Amino acid sequence: MNSFSAGLKSSFPLLKQGASTNIWFLFNFVVICRKAGEKIVFRRYLGLRSQKPMLKLLCVTAHPDDEAGAFGGTLLLYHDRGVETHVVCITAGTAARNRGTARSNEELAAMRRAELAASCKLLKVSQYEVLDYPDGKLNRTDLYQVVGDLTLRMRQIRPHVVLTFGPDGGLTGHVDHAMAGVFTTLAFEWAGRPDRYPEQLEQGLTPHRAQKLYYLTADFVLPDRRIIAPPTVTTRIEVGAERFEKKDEAFRQHLTQAPLFEKVKKNLGRHGGGVEMYHLAVTRDPREAKPETDLFEGVVEE
Ligand SMILES: [Zn+2]
Repeated sequence: MNSFSAGLKSSFPLLKQGASTNIWFLFNFVVICRKAGEKIVFRRYLGLRSQKPMLKLLCVTAHPDDEAGAFGGTLLLYHDRGVETHVVCITAGTAARNRGTARSNEELAAMRRAELAASCKLLKVSQYEVLDYPDGKLNRTDLYQVVGDLTLRMRQIRPHVVLTFGPDGGLTGHVDHAMAGVFTTLAFEWAGRPDRYPEQLEQGLTPHRAQKLYYLTADFVLPDRRIIAPPTVTTRIEVGAERFEKKDEAFRQHLTQAPLFEKVKKNLGRHGGGVEMYHLAVTRDPREAKPETDLFEGVVEE
């Protein structure tokens, strides 16, 4: 007899009367616990604690501030839905025209890393990291090395869904955004293959196949920016006005970028700012394209 049933029997002598009374008692106990909103506590007593793994979302960006300006509403929404959210930012953003009070690249990098931390806190990001690749030069950076670093993160974090920019470079057409999309697409494919970066597997990691890869996109272009050919909108995420405000607040944590605040808010403010749009670029399991309103639609918890 385990200590839980022993405890029950000493508290409730009726239980000594046999199995049928036991079942009757447990049934009523479940009803009482449910009514009291203590279903989880009850399940824990019985050792039935859910073993379901948490769903995970990984967002790969190019610069501190992308996580807020580009993906902020989505990161918040999925946190609110119980998803573990991760951000990996490939550069520290030292090529920025707006540099706050920084007197050197090192100072700017430190400031922008701190700003990203403050933004991720507001967006309730579970875990974030800034890599150290050269801002403004990702198209001239060793592809195999960057993809290897992202493959490593995918094998460590093991996300179900991955977000990044498309090869158009997002609304701004920034070359670093475009390259973040290219690197992440390769890492998405290669993280699941044992013949890619096998040295990572010798250190105890195992291949990981994320289930869906999305590119950020929009159903409009910005007239005063570089010409882009955006990926088709397949997925519209309603983040709502409240999360849009929070996203704007997160963007404003990037104080070195203060001259951009109003412009970015105006650019993001279409559709009331409450919709973020994506292109479903890759799926682990073959499927037909169809319009979606949830990044985790069809995702298997494993
Ligand atoms: Zn950027």
